[in-house]
Amino acid sequence: MKKHNFSAGPCILPQSVLQQAAAAVKNFNDLNLSLLEISHRSKDFVAVMDTARSLALTHLGLQNKGYQALFLQGGASMQFLMTAYNLLEKKAAYLNTGTWSDKAIKEAKLLGEVVEVASSKSDNFNYIPKNYSIPGDADYFHCTSNNTIFGTQLQQFPETDIPMVCDMSSDIFSRQLDFSKFDLIYAGAQKNMGPAGATLVVVKEEILGKVSRAIPSMLNYKVQIGKESMFNTPSVFAVYVSMLTLQWLEDAGGISAIEKVNNQKAALLYAEIDRNSLFEGYVAKKEDRSKMNATFNLKDEQLKATFDDTLKQAGISGINGHRSVGGYRASMYNALPLESVAVLVDVMQTVEKGA
Ligand code: PMP
Repeated sequence: MKKHNFSAGPCILPQSVLQQAAAAVKNFNDLNLSLLEISHRSKDFVAVMDTARSLALTHLGLQNKGYQALFLQGGASMQFLMTAYNLLEKKAAYLNTGTWSDKAIKEAKLLGEVVEVASSKSDNFNYIPKNYSIPGDADYFHCTSNNTIFGTQLQQFPETDIPMVCDMSSDIFSRQLDFSKFDLIYAGAQKNMGPAGATLVVVKEEILGKVSRAIPSMLNYKVQIGKESMFNTPSVFAVYVSMLTLQWLEDAGGISAIEKVNNQKAALLYAEIDRNSLFEGYVAKKEDRSKMNATFNLKDEQLKATFDDTLKQAGISGINGHRSVGGYRASMYNALPLESVAVLVDVMQTVEKGA
């Protein structure tokens, strides 16, 4: 029996996507060749890249609005540096809401001044700071929409006249937002989009070309756009599986339809965390809770062995918290069925009854 996969990433992908991907590894498009052994310049692969780029823009409602989608390598971590390389002339503003924001700040500091507009670091990132002001003379504002490790999520984004850059690695394609408010969005594929190895970058072209430094070709968005995301050999498998997942999302009714299911999953689990006397949520304010990653603890550590064992027996996998938070983290990405959350809730209730 397939496990209930609550892994934080790499994580669950739709079963139909895995089947299609497995078939393409053996025989792609009836070419009698594997997807992995054809040229990335072949017309069959160029069509994959074009489709993936265009589907990403369509899902976000950014088709024909001056944006370009790229599938790059180096993970979201490379984007910490690449965004600064392309956009930071003198000063940038960063909201620090977790480990990944912190790492983005560290890279940006290599290239210019960083103003941390607010930070929840001293409370181990258990809330989202609000009511901060963004300096109008900064080159851009950077934030992380969903903090995978701590289980917090931005429900509101600030209004600002400067370009807004967002790391959406762990909640892209999971909820409807006005994506045109963002000038650059990036996301590692390995949560809601596909396997590790590709990073989606969606960038508004008009913000590029404004810094005075020389930008190495691989780090230069303009070069990558000019080469239609094929400046060098792309990660063909990761791009292909991302394309399949974006098609799966389209067949499922797009972001608006998946958001409804994501809301149901999060409501079901958080209601149980709040009701069940054995558990407590990690996030300080309910309004900051992430719908993708729910972090919670057992109040009585002595029950850990029983809870872990019951989880295992129910086929639940990947639910341990990150080492910097401890406890548990249930990641409920797009491909996780509601039924898996129901099984988790059932385990929580069983353990409560037995305690
Ligand atoms: N940002 C966020 C929000 C993440 O969750 C992660 C990885 N879990 C990263 C950045 C880093 O991504 P990568 O490993 O692709 O560099």
